[in-house]
Amino acid sequence: MNFLSRLERRLPEMMALLEQSVNMDSPSADKALTDRVIDWYEERFREQLQAKVERVPNDLYGDRLAVRMGAGPRQILLVAHADTVWPPGEARRRPFRVDGKRAYGPGVYDMKASLIQALYAMKLLQAEGRLCDSLSIVLLINSDEEIGSPTSRAWIEAYARESEAALVLEPPLEPHGALKTARKGSGRFLLSVQGQAAHAGVNPEAGISAVEELARQIIRLHSWSDADSGIQINVGKIAGGIGANVIADYAEAEIDVRVDTMDDFRRFPGRLNGLVPSLPGTRLRIDGGMNRPPMERTESSARLYEIARSAAREELSLEPEEASTGGVSDGNFIAACGTPTLDGLGVGGGGAHSPSEFIWVPELARRTALLAGILDRI
Ligand SMILES: [Zn+2]
Repeated sequence: MNFLSRLERRLPEMMALLEQSVNMDSPSADKALTDRVIDWYEERFREQLQAKVERVPNDLYGDRLAVRMGAGPRQILLVAHADTVWPPGEARRRPFRVDGKRAYGPGVYDMKASLIQALYAMKLLQAEGRLCDSLSIVLLINSDEEIGSPTSRAWIEAYARESEAALVLEPPLEPHGALKTARKGSGRFLLSVQGQAAHAGVNPEAGISAVEELARQIIRLHSWSDADSGIQINVGKIAGGIGANVIADYAEAEIDVRVDTMDDFRRFPGRLNGLVPSLPGTRLRIDGGMNRPPMERTESSARLYEIARSAAREELSLEPEEASTGGVSDGNFIAACGTPTLDGLGVGGGGAHSPSEFIWVPELARRTALLAGILDRI
């Protein structure tokens, strides 16, 4: 019997566990609630797997778990998060439900299904005696991913540096469940403009409009977006001025920047700091910075993708797709450590971060078979 048919037989119990975990809220900002979900995962991994489960306490956000199976020198990282973007009470408002082939509920797709997937892939390898002696598989579960992993980033990076490869269990790219070998890097900036206030009717010549200067800068910034080089700029929020009859002495804009390459990632703060005012007498100031480096497609991540491809062919009779995305994940800074990284290994579905979020139920067994197949071939 192959991996898939074994897992299809376990699908009802996998769904029962998924239901329990989706029905527990775990907002990143609520330590008490997220710790309850971590307690639940800790128990499941301890009782169902012969593995070393280490719990790392956290003062600010939910605790973290590192689940280690095997003791070989070649370490493979599985990366997942227990937190969701949903507030307390969300699971009571719209609990887990199955409708046909879809399962709904807060965080079901991003990424509570992925944790059940990791548990069953590891269980299967253990039960089948397929974990080769040279390997150790370490599953990392953090609780602050949805807010940028402020307290878990260094912890994940330390594991990444010691690992031969990292498999990130974020949802795949839809509609065809593509695996992600590249992600854009991202940054956030604030552009502040200082002008000169004056009465718009009485002495306009004494004023210099910060609002006009900002408008000119926004047009310049948006013109930097360039599909060929992969640069995306979005001025997503602006503010300025105090009223229609006052020439504004202040205006500001929040800027989101996405880049494909490490070169652009390093260059971008300098490029923004090099902005010059269009209106004489105004002053510009840039705050903020780049935070997640791009996950670039490398020769070694392409090799990892080839392993996933043969696992998909042999376990699922499926030709997977490879994709690049503008979204960011923990895969970004893992790849920046030089660790070959494959992302988007989670369960197919859609509607991440929206109330229509769902997974395709049969995909829970299929993507678990794929994950087990990759670990078996790595
Ligand atoms: Zn996620």
